[in-house]
Amino acid sequence: MSKFFNNKLFRCLSILLVFNSNIPLVRSSSALAAWSLNSNGVLELRTKSDTKLEAYFQKGGEVFGDRFWIDFPGELKNPRIIEGNGPIKEIRLGKPIKGKTRLVVEFIENNDLRPLKWSLVGLDQNRWRIKLFSSPRNSFKKIGEGNVKQSPLKLTSNQKQINTIKRNYDFLNLPDIKRNNFYVVIDPGHGGPDPGAIGIGGLRETDVVLEVSKLVKKLLTEKGVKVRLTRNKELDLDLPPRVSIANRTDADIFVSIHANASRGRRRDINGLETFYYSGWRGRLLAKKIQKQILKVSPGSPDRGVRQGRFFVIKNTRMPAVLVEIGFLTGRLDARRLEKSIHRKRIAYAITRGILEYFSKAG
Ligand code: ZN
Repeated sequence: MSKFFNNKLFRCLSILLVFNSNIPLVRSSSALAAWSLNSNGVLELRTKSDTKLEAYFQKGGEVFGDRFWIDFPGELKNPRIIEGNGPIKEIRLGKPIKGKTRLVVEFIENNDLRPLKWSLVGLDQNRWRIKLFSSPRNSFKKIGEGNVKQSPLKLTSNQKQINTIKRNYDFLNLPDIKRNNFYVVIDPGHGGPDPGAIGIGGLRETDVVLEVSKLVKKLLTEKGVKVRLTRNKELDLDLPPRVSIANRTDADIFVSIHANASRGRRRDINGLETFYYSGWRGRLLAKKIQKQILKVSPGSPDRGVRQGRFFVIKNTRMPAVLVEIGFLTGRLDARRLEKSIHRKRIAYAITRGILEYFSKAG
């Protein structure tokens, strides 16, 4: 397992290519009109005129594949995943934050990309292209939505290409904190006869959150944090004993991990949220975790950091949060949460949130 989190594998590079327009526009609907990833590895886009685009690349490793994404102004109506082929694992269209559309090109692991050579070029006022890869003939079948060639407009002078490397960041490098100084109780929700939410394809909350919790324990332990799980197998555990484990052992923080189900099992409802009961520490912990889990769940809505009166966070005496890592009934979230690779990402994100909390509030 530690191999999965080997820092060197996860040196992440992000390139930012910004295209400026002098015309400020307020838009509600997505500026992305059509896109096509052609068999020669060229991604073509059609947008509204004079749109400002931001493009990013993130280097993957054994857990993540390499990933390229573009943010467009305006919000998308239906987040969706389009299955890839050849070097492309999938294309995702989502709304990472309110008022934005994100197109994510997710590559299969261990591919051979040269992102430093990439440039997103404006062809005219509303069309763009970027060559992402070369592949042997017939090894990649074109995918896309809409007509990218429709109504081309002349390139304007303000549409100059600015190719900036904005920052390098270590997305997956877990921060160090003082060792043997902190103690965390992790509470995998439900268990035993209570499976919690049941999702698409019979995905069970109890299984998902137990696996994530065990991974969080492993990662925190490697960072010198003492961790106790309220349960480490399938067993029936009421809420009061979960609370008393934390209260009687003087934990620094309490983190309960859950997954959601929507009423009516609606597949279009996805998203992540983190609850705290009271106090700035609880709120800060919730904010740190929520920010990180969103980062590894592109396209899934941010349902926010909220106050909640759940028994386990209300009755614990230390800063306590309840994290909902996605909707098992949601098409987008369930498809991810059923994969162990995504559970690792979520565990990683929760761990990072906790470590950041300790370095700030510790
Ligand atoms: Zn639950």
